[in-house]
Amino acid sequence: MRTVYVNGDYLPENEARVSIFDRGFLMADGVYEVTSVLGGKLIDFDGHAVRLQRSLDALDMRNPISKEDLLDVHRELVRINEIDEGMVYLQITRGAPGDRDFAFPDPDETEPTVVLFTQNKPGLANSPAAKKGMKVISIDDIRWGRRDIKTVQLLYPSMGKMMAKKAGADDAWMIEDGFVTEGTSNNAYIVKGNKIITRALSNDILHGITRAAVLRFAREAQMEVEERNFTIDEAKEADEAFITSASTFVMPVVEIDGVSLGEGVPGRVAPRLREIYLEESLKKAV
Ligand code: PMP
Repeated sequence: MRTVYVNGDYLPENEARVSIFDRGFLMADGVYEVTSVLGGKLIDFDGHAVRLQRSLDALDMRNPISKEDLLDVHRELVRINEIDEGMVYLQITRGAPGDRDFAFPDPDETEPTVVLFTQNKPGLANSPAAKKGMKVISIDDIRWGRRDIKTVQLLYPSMGKMMAKKAGADDAWMIEDGFVTEGTSNNAYIVKGNKIITRALSNDILHGITRAAVLRFAREAQMEVEERNFTIDEAKEADEAFITSASTFVMPVVEIDGVSLGEGVPGRVAPRLREIYLEESLKKAV
């Protein structure tokens, strides 16, 4: 049985408890991070810790745990649960005031809730899906306007994933005002010639930690990067497409709305970026 962390305690998963009054449960008033684990080490922990603080600040939520303690908890869970490849999920909510109320509780009276757990994913780095590539469909982006804050309100992304499954695809890319925003749980890219194109950062998308690293590595490898909007039609005519996220790293996309890209198999750029990303991030894993 897994050991999880709740508000300072390490507990067997079936003994961990959160109040029914928790604002994470009642109002999705919480933020999260997912950090991947390779070779028993955390990939880009620093990036995730910085974004966590940014999300908390944006929601005026107190951070109850220091970065050093957070790193200790991550490492301890990886150790206890013997995770070689997998991920650590972290969630902080505004806690559990006695009553349900739209107004935020007084932060001096209501402690935030901190929960962490691991998910074991053997074979994460060597995933067969990365060799085959994935299929995506396009759907309307009807999410709220602060997608840069990593909140736990994931109902629409979850519905998008189900729409994709129903259509025989693996994921959905969301479209707003004619342009692709991002995938349900990943950032979206197309490749034309040697150029990597991805939407620029704004409140419209999550500022992916993997995105930042991949774009940095791409530029260091002298690849051309253009941060701009692109339409789904432009994507269907691209040479390649791919997604990035902490749990999938870099994953080629070979089909969009039933249209095959290139030969319908992963191209040259996405697999190369995956290789570079895995190699470089492992060097700095903690
Ligand atoms: N966009 C969305 C909507 C996401 O949910 C995620 C992953 N949580 C990402 C992008 C990718 O971010 P990261 O690389 O930090 O995992």
